[in-house]
Amino acid sequence: MKRLSLLLAYLVVIAGMLLTACQAAPSPTPSPTAAPATPPPGPTPTAAPPPATPTPAAVVYSREETLYTSGTQWGPPSNWNPLQTGTYAMGTIGLCYETLFLYDPLKNEYIPWLAEKGNWTSDNVYEVKLRQGITWADGQPMTAEDIVYTFELGKLEGVYYKPLWDYLEKVEAVDNLTVRFTFKEVHHQAWSNLLYSVAIVPKHAWQGRSQQEIVNGQNLPPLCSGPYVYETHSEDRVVWKRNDNWWGTKLLGKSVAPRYIVDVVNPSNNVALGLVLKGEVDLSNNFLPGIATLVQGGYGVKTWYDKPPYMLAANTAFLFVNHNKKPLNDANFRKALAYAINVDEIVNRVYGNIVQKANPTGLLPVWERFVDQNVAQSLGFSYDPNRAKQILAQAGYRDTNGDGFVEAPDGSPIQLKIIVPNGWTDWMEAAKVIASSAQAVGINLQADFPDFGAYWDQLTGGTFDTAINNFGSQMSNTPWTFYLWLFRHPITDKMNDGNYGRYNNPQVFDLVDQLDRTPVTDEARMKQIISQIQRIQLQEMPAIPLWYNGLWAQWNETYWTNWPSAAEGAPKYLPCTWRGYWNMTAILMLTELKPKPKR
Ligand code: MG
Repeated sequence: MKRLSLLLAYLVVIAGMLLTACQAAPSPTPSPTAAPATPPPGPTPTAAPPPATPTPAAVVYSREETLYTSGTQWGPPSNWNPLQTGTYAMGTIGLCYETLFLYDPLKNEYIPWLAEKGNWTSDNVYEVKLRQGITWADGQPMTAEDIVYTFELGKLEGVYYKPLWDYLEKVEAVDNLTVRFTFKEVHHQAWSNLLYSVAIVPKHAWQGRSQQEIVNGQNLPPLCSGPYVYETHSEDRVVWKRNDNWWGTKLLGKSVAPRYIVDVVNPSNNVALGLVLKGEVDLSNNFLPGIATLVQGGYGVKTWYDKPPYMLAANTAFLFVNHNKKPLNDANFRKALAYAINVDEIVNRVYGNIVQKANPTGLLPVWERFVDQNVAQSLGFSYDPNRAKQILAQAGYRDTNGDGFVEAPDGSPIQLKIIVPNGWTDWMEAAKVIASSAQAVGINLQADFPDFGAYWDQLTGGTFDTAINNFGSQMSNTPWTFYLWLFRHPITDKMNDGNYGRYNNPQVFDLVDQLDRTPVTDEARMKQIISQIQRIQLQEMPAIPLWYNGLWAQWNETYWTNWPSAAEGAPKYLPCTWRGYWNMTAILMLTELKPKPKR
């Protein structure tokens, strides 16, 4: 144990240096049509926390039957409402509420879940056939009426799939198990995303509620259809209990292994590290600085890969630049900045190689097939400070006053800031690297660390110069969600969900909309459109892709084995409890976990 204590001491030092890294918190479901503001990943000031039920922390669950998780909750659990996509308690969608399909990003496959199948029966009619024999936890059958009810909730203000009703004409139950969606105009990409992200709710339990209760209510206790039901919660945890009558056992031949899932609110990084090392948390989806050392050191902590980059890539961190400010409105200046940034230093020194440098297009590895390699090769950029200086000089940026920094072509001084939230220490370090990279080519860029609220106001209000953000670039079933975020339109006073720099290019907006109307099965057409977007992106450099943030996942095998990973023979599901990820196969991880045999 001495080695462990020494290590813990070392990690406390590291953690002290890298205090927090809240950006690990993913944005809400990768539901593109969702317009909710990405919630601050810090403790979220939503409704007052519910009254704590009697000290669940004091209840001792049989350790052999219980899975302890952490990494999603940044504050006390406050609601179990699947319509509150950014704040619902860990597992609300996935463990409790379920979706018609799951989506497997590693195989690009839609997995029928509540739905037995779904088909286009004509150009604008989609029919879903529900499985026969699905019941809610109260024993009531799930029927087509529940599906109709759920999708009609999208007509209410504040529901994240409200944009659906701009192009959906009607949804009707054809019979007990068949639901027909008739579209005015098919937004294929958005629809394909909703098929695995809208959680079906029970009409019989919800229909008497007020609009306020439906949209913003706490929904406690939730009436679930999934493999777990609500057990209890407190300020620092939520506890789910297995539903042994879950329909999936009978209809899918699958059962989930843990009897209880206890999700612990994120403690500080050093505490989180200690919990994983000691086996008190089985799966952590926190950013844990120094994790590479642990994985290499044989401390029993495992990650997806056993070597760099250790994690799957989950989202892309971008440098957003404000297009309404000089000289950031000049494509040459933005390109020079892109060539100036030493991303390798961020990957190696700031992250210890647990992240990867982004492709010049910013597309995640799961979307690699959509990168137009010809475009990327001919127009792509990489770290090249001399090239950056050359571009600046050619565009008329020169140091005319001899202070070491270039002035604009009209002689006016350039003084820019890069902002990231104070306390997000890995981003703070990355911002310093970016600032010094820029300074090295003569751009006066200084790092600035406002608190999260001020950062968010500047970012969404369009008063910042440059800023790091990744909130809407999450892995999903289609790169359209990524482009919708990057090129969010129309430009409004507050840009809460992407295109923070207010890049205004109708041609790109039109391409993104064309992409939305292209079937997900027509990848050739998707690639054609995406290639055009990428060409404009690399010529104009509206925002600069930096690195891929990891799907932070580290686990301990003391109590549970057969975790998903890249290892040969291991299950290939996402080991992740984040919102929006249970329905991207993480739920199947629970059907593969095995209790460790007692010695
Ligand atoms: Mg100067």
